[in-house]
Formats: sequence, C-alpha cells, structure tokens
Amino acid sequence: MAETEAGLVRRVRDLAPAQRGNGRSLHRPLLLLWAVGQAAAGQPRQQPWTQIRDSVTPLLARYAGGQGSQAALYPFWALRNNGLWEVEGGEDFSLTSGGRRPTKATLDEANPMAGLPKDDHELLTQDWALTARIAGSLLLRFFPDVMEEVAHAVGLQKLLAGGIDVALRPRVGELYKDRTTIAAAYGGNKVGGITPLEDGLLSVFSDDKGPYDDSRVPGTDWIAYTGDGLSGNQELIKGNKSMAAYQAERRALRYWHKPHGGDFTFETWAVVVQCRKRWGVGADGNRRQEYVWILAPVASPLSETWTEEVKAALGADDLTVHDDLDLEPSEAGPDDAPGAPTPMDRYRKLSAAARRTAAQRTKRSKLTTVERFLRSAPAREAVILRSDGRCENPECLGHPTERTDKGAPLLEVDHVTQLSDGGDDTPESMIALCPNCHALKTRGSNRRELSRKLLRRARELDQAFSRGEGQH
Ligand SMILES: [Zn+2]
Repeated sequence: MAETEAGLVRRVRDLAPAQRGNGRSLHRPLLLLWAVGQAAAGQPRQQPWTQIRDSVTPLLARYAGGQGSQAALYPFWALRNNGLWEVEGGEDFSLTSGGRRPTKATLDEANPMAGLPKDDHELLTQDWALTARIAGSLLLRFFPDVMEEVAHAVGLQKLLAGGIDVALRPRVGELYKDRTTIAAAYGGNKVGGITPLEDGLLSVFSDDKGPYDDSRVPGTDWIAYTGDGLSGNQELIKGNKSMAAYQAERRALRYWHKPHGGDFTFETWAVVVQCRKRWGVGADGNRRQEYVWILAPVASPLSETWTEEVKAALGADDLTVHDDLDLEPSEAGPDDAPGAPTPMDRYRKLSAAARRTAAQRTKRSKLTTVERFLRSAPAREAVILRSDGRCENPECLGHPTERTDKGAPLLEVDHVTQLSDGGDDTPESMIALCPNCHALKTRGSNRRELSRKLLRRARELDQAFSRGEGQH
C-alpha cells in the first residue's frame, strides 16, 4: 500500500469520537462521510463555510443528534485535529470556548473555504475502490442501523450500489499464512485475539494450535469464543471490552479461523449473541474465571441479511453475563498433597455439578444447545478423570492411550445415548473413546450393539467411581 494511502486509512481508523452520555458523538464521522460523498460526486474539494453549514446542519440533526445552527461548527473545526480537514486561514481566527474553536459569527463573517486535504482528495477521486472501502467502514462503524439511509443522504449510494459489505476488505474467504501477512495486508495488531484491522472493524482470531479450543458448538454453527487475557481472571477490558461494545450495539465482527496445519481464513462475519462467564485454566496452568462470547455467523455485516434465528437471539439478549461459575472446578494441585481431594472426590463433585445442570434444563433452542454444551464441561472433565487417559471401550483395539502435542489424552467424550434420544450429559451416560472406537460407535455397522455395551460400561464405571472404588 502506498504511504499516502496508508496514512489516509490510518487517520480514518483513528477517528474515535468521544463517548457522550447517550452514545458516541457522530458529528465528525458524518462530516467526513459528507466530504467523501462530495469527492465521489465530483464536487470541488473546497467549499465555503456557509454552503457546508447549510448542507450538513440537517444531516447532523437527523443522524448525529446535533440540534441548532451551532451544530455544524463543532465538526467543521474539530475534524482538522484528525488531519482529515482543512480550513483556509484557520490559524488566524480568534478562538473562544477556552481556545477550542471560533464562534459561529466569526465563521459567518469570514466564510472561509474548507474541505479535505489535497492529497487525500486526490486519492479518493482516483481510486474508487478505496473510496468505497473507507465509506463502507465509516458507515458500518458509526451508523450500523441506518447505513443505507446515510449513504443516500451524503450521495454515496451510487458508489456503494454493489453493497456496503462488498466494498469492504478483506472479503469472506480470504486466507493468509499467518497473522504477520494479515497485518501486512490490512494492518492491525499481530498477536491480540480480539483486535481491529486498519479499517477500525473488530476481528477475532481463533487458532486451533493456540491456547484455547474456540470451536463450533457441536450440533450448531455457533462459536464459543474464549475472551481476552491469557492468565488470571479475565476482566472487561481491552478485547473483552470491545466485544461487549459490539454485543451492545449488535454489530458484526470478522471471525478468523486457523485449523491445524492450515491457513488463517476470514471465515465469516458474526455477531455476539451472548456473553457467559465460566471457570477455565489460564496459560499459567491455574484456574481462573474467563469470558465466553457466543458468536453467531451471519451472511454479511448488514442486519437485513441476518436470519430470523439470529435476530431472535439478539432480541433475547439483555446483555447480562450468563454465569456458569456455579459449576465448581475440581481443585488443581498434586494428588498426593496432604488434604488434596482424591480423584473419586473430584469425580463426585463434577458429577454433582453436571446433574444440577441437567435438572435445570427445559427449553429447546440453539442457545439452549450452546448453554448445554458449555455447562457440560464438568461432565466431560469427570469422564476424562474417570478414564485415566485410556479409551473406556473394554474391547478397544485402537490407540487407547494416544496423546496430543499438548499431552492431553486423544479421547472424545461422547454421549452413549444421543441427546436427542433423551440422553443426559451426566457422566453415567457418557464415555471417553479413542478416535477409532468413536468412529465404530457413530458409523460402524455394529454401532447399536456397541452402544448398549458402552452404556453398561459407563454405568459400571460411574457407580464404581461414585462408591470410591475407581481404579486409581
Ligand atoms: Zn478405543
């Protein structure tokens, strides 16, 4: 990217209006969009204050809550501070409001020419793709509910006729070797899991080799995404704060995913439909509280393309944090430490937590499935504990003790009876299987007979463990 272009993109990205009591102040983004619209329409780069004032005052009143004849004064003067606006002779005006800006009377009398800086204007009139990209990202960042309307009002509807989402870069499906190449192409931070690209729109990155298993919730296309912060209790700061803001504003973010040995792909746009809090294990190996953001994929960042299911989930979300912290973790620590709980104690505790969740369950919806999956973590942990890292099929001929790179057992915890057939996610109806036995159980021709055997085995193991007769 040429330096002039990079500079313009950066200054637009850094346009971060102050937070006001009732939301963000949108005066500057709106004036900038108006100016971009003027460039796209072939209007002169600079126009007199009075003409600009009369054009933007009604827009500010309608889309930025800027009432009265003074409204245009603020962005007209303040956008200069972002390096995106010039006022001829501006340095000679006497300022009021503690030296912050001239009065309206001063401007009315001098009627200075003003507009975009020359280099920026030249770029915008020569590179329509760039202009559309900048306009699209501004609309999405600041006017998500009235994008089309604002585009029309500032004369950008023709430029964006192909679709605001289509104007944006990167596009869904683009893939890159790693975070460095993404940053080279689209800016942004190279390491953060939750971070905006250079266009100011939030991206979340999920790496299968990373510290978390951010994954599709089985049986759904929704994603349970672990929040920002590697060790210690996660807080509502940095990436998590950005996620909460997107959740509150019902805005779409970009979801990137890197499978084992694959490339980083901008997989889909997604919206945050729920925030949860649970126990997890930090990078330092210690238990900590972490956020889980439930992401629902959407076809585009434009809300009119979202499915009824997603809209219903957004409508049902009152922004409360759903608390899974009642599911107590098993205590970490060496098993032989004095007073340390035995595996049997931990098993009983995890089982009890799993049964509490199973008892509470009533509704049926995708959110329920997600909640159920997340809240079945203690049950899965209990089963892994019970398995002692070995496939629990007594007739296993596969690789019962195989491990992953991270040293975790390569076991899949499975419901012996399908959830849809009334199976519960409590340890007595779940079993840890090696990949081979798991395939036999789901796809083998003897799967029904095997399922019966496995269910019997799971119950035996559960009873033995609950009585304290496990094999540890
Ligand atoms: Zn096996």
